[in-house]
Amino acid sequence: MTEEIPARLLIIGGGPAGTMAATVAASLGAHVALVEDSIIGGAAHLLDCIPSKTMVASSVRRASVQDSAKLGFVVDEGHMDLARLASHIDTISSDLANSATTILEDQGVTILRGRGSFTGPHTAVAQTADGEVELGFDTALISTGSAPRVPDWAVPDGNRILTTRDAYDFDEIPEHMVVVGSGVTGVEFVNIFSSMGSRVSLLVSRQQVLPHRDPEVAAAIESDFLERGVSLLKGARAIGIDIEGDQVVVHLEDGRMVTGSHALLAIGSVPLSAGLGLEEAGVEHDHGYVGVDEFQRTSQPHIYAAGDVTGQMPLSSVASMQGRKIAHHLMGFQVRPLDYAKVAQAVFTEPEIASVGLEEADITAAGRRIRTTKVPFAANSRSVIQGNTHGFVKVFSDPATHEILGGTIVGHRASELIGILALAVQGRLRVEAVVETLMVHPSLSESITEAAE
Ligand SMILES: Cc1cc2nc3c(=O)[nH]c(=O)nc-3n(C[C@H](O)[C@H](O)[C@H](O)COP(=O)(O)OP(=O)(O)OC[C@H]3O[C@@H](n4cnc5c(N)ncnc54)[C@H](O)[C@@H]3O)c2cc1C
Repeated sequence: MTEEIPARLLIIGGGPAGTMAATVAASLGAHVALVEDSIIGGAAHLLDCIPSKTMVASSVRRASVQDSAKLGFVVDEGHMDLARLASHIDTISSDLANSATTILEDQGVTILRGRGSFTGPHTAVAQTADGEVELGFDTALISTGSAPRVPDWAVPDGNRILTTRDAYDFDEIPEHMVVVGSGVTGVEFVNIFSSMGSRVSLLVSRQQVLPHRDPEVAAAIESDFLERGVSLLKGARAIGIDIEGDQVVVHLEDGRMVTGSHALLAIGSVPLSAGLGLEEAGVEHDHGYVGVDEFQRTSQPHIYAAGDVTGQMPLSSVASMQGRKIAHHLMGFQVRPLDYAKVAQAVFTEPEIASVGLEEADITAAGRRIRTTKVPFAANSRSVIQGNTHGFVKVFSDPATHEILGGTIVGHRASELIGILALAVQGRLRVEAVVETLMVHPSLSESITEAAE
């Protein structure tokens, strides 16, 4: 069937970037068609961000139950019902997809279920279950996301050798997970599997986990991992993985071998843009990453791109914000380019790590003077009451203007607490504004006001 649907804005890919752009543009009066070949909410909801955070919530809850005897709450060890967890993850993904779909439909967005591709600079086609739908557009958004990177030395089988997208549904708790890659995703899965009760080995290709982060932050995570019995192998560059019976053997460049029951590849992602018709649309790309300017316009100014397919900061929050700004830009509103230095980020380990603004090393490398203040959670009464005293708050400010330039929090619920500093950095607040804010007592937030002092 060939049907013609006029669309002022055509969006291919309904993850955080695509759905946010669709909702905002439609609410501003645009005629929007969204083509999505999986669920509304995208890989973020089905395969990456949301399922992994659900696993974190569940496994960390188990670990905290086991740890609760010190608070006078004695329970048995608790065991995990993995089938129930997998179905919980499915329910969350479909609930989120349903509510996102309802919002889009309420805004009048036309949703086409299928694969979209460009056939020219102003034309595209969607392959749906009912046939081919031809689409004309004035403006388009490419928001097709990314997929886990698979190196040429490993063949994931979804059973023993896994990508992150295979890591949500097990019949039993993996006995020994070898995690390859110690960036954000790798350390989050170390947290998940060690909290579930698996033995975990982490292959760290350099000399610290989270190689681009503040060494003090990396040290805090490493010491937590070691306390839990995680094996950290430093300078461990994997070059091959074999399956031998019910074991995996990971071969390292220096001749070492690491044996486990499963291996998990957490070594980054690749853009999903093959077969999208970028050449037909005249959109330039570099190894599949779609290049954009500060307003997310591609080499074809009427075609925007956002989210992971651009190779910019790969976060759901960033993808959504880019989508929102694109909607305003294409509707003719004045838009300020996204300031990536002000993006709040978190690593969902326990303790969590969160940061916003400039990191200490960036500020000093730029030759800028900096005032660093730091308060440990061990001095916070709420932390002591809750028995979560690991970690600290660090605040970076300009000694001359007192402006808050950034901050790092390592600790329980750091991903929530960082919001206070994110607001301070975004609003260019001075330290006095934070210091003079009366927080609840006892609360973890008090450590932020103290650290700003
Ligand atoms: C394990 C893991 C955990 C993560 N955790 C977090 C986190 O805690 N916080 C955070 O902010 N970020 C997190 N991220 C990153 C986050 O998931 C991504 O940055 C985000 O999903 C990018 O959104 P997007 O809009 O680019 O597209 P995606 O979410 O990737 O969605 C793109 C959609 O486009 C569809 N599509 C692709 N090609 C076509 C086509 N030709 N036609 C139709 N549809 C198509 C895909 O099926 C998909 O549904 C995590 C990533 C991983 C891997």
